[in-house]
Amino acid sequence: MTQAGGKHAIVRLAINACRVSRAYRLLRPLLGGSGVILALHRVVPDTGRSRIGANSRIEISPEFLESLIIFFRKKGYRIVSLDEMYRQLKHGPGETPFVCFTFDDGYSDILDYVLPVFSKYNAPFAVYVVTSFAEKSFPLWWYMLEELLLTTSGVLEASLDGLSLKLKIDTMEEKEAAYSRIREIFMSFPQEELRDVVENFFSPLGVSPDQYKKCQMSWEQVAALAHHPLATVGAHSVHHYNLRSLSRADAAAEIADSKEILQEKTGVAVHHFSFPFGSREECGPREFEMARKCGFKTAVTIREGLIFPEHRFFTECLPRIEITGRHQDLTLVDMRRCGLVSLLRNGFKRVVTV
Ligand SMILES: [Zn+2]
Repeated sequence: MTQAGGKHAIVRLAINACRVSRAYRLLRPLLGGSGVILALHRVVPDTGRSRIGANSRIEISPEFLESLIIFFRKKGYRIVSLDEMYRQLKHGPGETPFVCFTFDDGYSDILDYVLPVFSKYNAPFAVYVVTSFAEKSFPLWWYMLEELLLTTSGVLEASLDGLSLKLKIDTMEEKEAAYSRIREIFMSFPQEELRDVVENFFSPLGVSPDQYKKCQMSWEQVAALAHHPLATVGAHSVHHYNLRSLSRADAAAEIADSKEILQEKTGVAVHHFSFPFGSREECGPREFEMARKCGFKTAVTIREGLIFPEHRFFTECLPRIEITGRHQDLTLVDMRRCGLVSLLRNGFKRVVTV
């Protein structure tokens, strides 16, 4: 077992031990902080169909989203906008803890499921939009590949930049393995070349990106959302590249241009940013400084952590709690809002920043 694998096993053991005793609630006064920012992506009804794990991972059901809203309100949290969270960080926390719901990327199910649920509860939420998503200029290869693998069996034969692939795809295990292999190859290309690589791979197989474009909000929809009183539209870069792997000039342009384009397209000022991917491998001090210089009030990562008053000095690298398809479990959410998972992952570093 690797060191990371061992650590994960210990985290799982500790979580299971705490699940029964509920002793983790004793941590909340010490480690629960003044609030929490939740990181979500898509909200999609479960059709019961087999899925590729990497894709279903970023989806939760509309029912679970609703149960999250009810859960946090029952626990005494106030659902606040990013502007209100920023105000509280800068001018002192409120009497009650806060929760911010944030959704990354800009999928169109924001309009189908997120907006109706938040309207029902009259609660604010935020969506970080990738501008090339709204342009619909980048193919959603992960859904194209999933559909190809789920609707094909036998042997998948394809070529990628001179590399001939022959992958068995009869069982779900083989389909998952093929997905991982092809994803790995896609990711090995320079990010700027990926669009052409994807087109060259799928075109001979007769898979078109067009039918997936409806999964992305259009500019008209993003603009309407930006004017909705419950919604905040934030930036999430132009191309969703790993910013750390780019040159300083390119990374800075990804951040600044996305703010400018969003403002121009929506007519609404953009004050908040989410780093693409958002782990330590994809954003660090250089990118945090860029977001700060760009004038964003807040910028968020995907590092697990709760928000403390000390974060007023670190509003350009705020941690979040990511809720994935695998984490649709309110007891686990309860543990995380009390600080248990953050404690296990980050040791006694209470105020998670860089
Ligand atoms: Zn994203």
